[in-house]
Amino acid sequence: FDWWHASNLQGYAPICLGLEDFYTRRLYLRIQDCFGRPISSAPDAWFHVVERYSNDNNKTLKRTDKINRCLNLGSYNYLGFAASDEYCTPRVIDSLNKFSASTCSTRVDGGTTIVHKELEERVANFVGKPAAIVFGMGYVTNSAVLPVLIGKGGLIISDSLNHNSIVNGARGSGATVRVFQHNTPSHLEKVLREQIAEGQPRTHRPWKKIIVVVEGIYSMEGEICKLPEIVAICKKYKAYVYLDEAHSIGAVGKTGRGVCELLGVDTTDVDIMMGTFTKSFGSCGGYIAGSKELIQYLKFTCPAHLYATAISPPAAQQIISSIKVILGEDGSSRGAQKLARIRENSNFFRSELQKMGFEVLGDNDSPVMPIMLYNPAKIPAFSRECLKQNVAVVTVAFPATPLLLARARICISASHTKEDLIKALEVISQVGDLVGIKYFPAEPKKQ
Ligand code: PMP
Repeated sequence: FDWWHASNLQGYAPICLGLEDFYTRRLYLRIQDCFGRPISSAPDAWFHVVERYSNDNNKTLKRTDKINRCLNLGSYNYLGFAASDEYCTPRVIDSLNKFSASTCSTRVDGGTTIVHKELEERVANFVGKPAAIVFGMGYVTNSAVLPVLIGKGGLIISDSLNHNSIVNGARGSGATVRVFQHNTPSHLEKVLREQIAEGQPRTHRPWKKIIVVVEGIYSMEGEICKLPEIVAICKKYKAYVYLDEAHSIGAVGKTGRGVCELLGVDTTDVDIMMGTFTKSFGSCGGYIAGSKELIQYLKFTCPAHLYATAISPPAAQQIISSIKVILGEDGSSRGAQKLARIRENSNFFRSELQKMGFEVLGDNDSPVMPIMLYNPAKIPAFSRECLKQNVAVVTVAFPATPLLLARARICISASHTKEDLIKALEVISQVGDLVGIKYFPAEPKKQ
């Protein structure tokens, strides 16, 4: 059942889940409304207060009784830029001095600094499109741009596991929304064929416009999009391709340019390239890159651009500086090393987990690796036991996943050392035995 896209879930009756923590036998009530907003949650698993992040991707968690310094296996800090960086940080501080933390103005009225101009040029160039526009938040980029691109009479065909920001944007657009089976090009083609044949008269295309929305790497699955097949189908049926690269830009591809580079897809075949700066670039905000006409249109029509305060200049500077490091424009080879490291770390961690008997979702090269827990009652114990041994993991449950497909979602970073990963594997293995989530026989260790 597709929880996210189903419009008949837009009622108001709360959904109440009783989660018995199988370890302490305590019963938690997680009550949420039909939009998935939690009303109360299991206290051990979520909402830890972090006192500080440190440079080596550990994080210090301030808890009520004690302070833990933990290895952070939950952050989207894929390239390690969300930490003090020898190249980025001095430049960010300089822009803070020059422009302050906020422009306190919209882009249209005094909020466009030279940093914003440079950022948009660099992003367009980095992702391989003629132009780009940036927004203060990644979530808003999807939810505010989709309704400007399409409306009543249009058709959005969305992957069933697309992020909530896409779902909200699609719902808010007024277009008809259809869903295709997650990352299944043959089902996308079936939906397209059905939708186009439904028109009256049959020879006439019934939709003003069709947009197919996919993600580069799926955030809860760790899977890489089957983009070459999807692009070919969209060409055949004359549908636009909208690609959300929140988790893939900067993280995959030989020079960090995302799934197009990784899979050899020409960026001219992707009409709307979206991404966020909150992961690989260690900052905040989002972008849309596309043709000059598309970006010009968004600049003058998108309310989130016209009426919202511009992205903070130090945040914009952080993105510019991290792109420069990725491309080696800082005069060092750190960028290339980070890209090699995240790939190596991800592939090592994934294969070790599999050898131990865990069920791990996702593809090779993807830094996102969900370990399946299935039963949501195992979440608090898994999270707590890892934390006791100073390993912080993110656990994900309904409504971000289907009810009985709870998981721990590991995010690997280039800033993790081999020792960090080996320690984390030992902890996860012990906790996995305790909680009973090794669903496959372990591979015998080589002598
Ligand atoms: N798109 C996807 C695929 C995401 O996973 C996320 C959040 N992780 C967003 C958009 C929203 O981005 P942000 O957190 O930068 O607002």
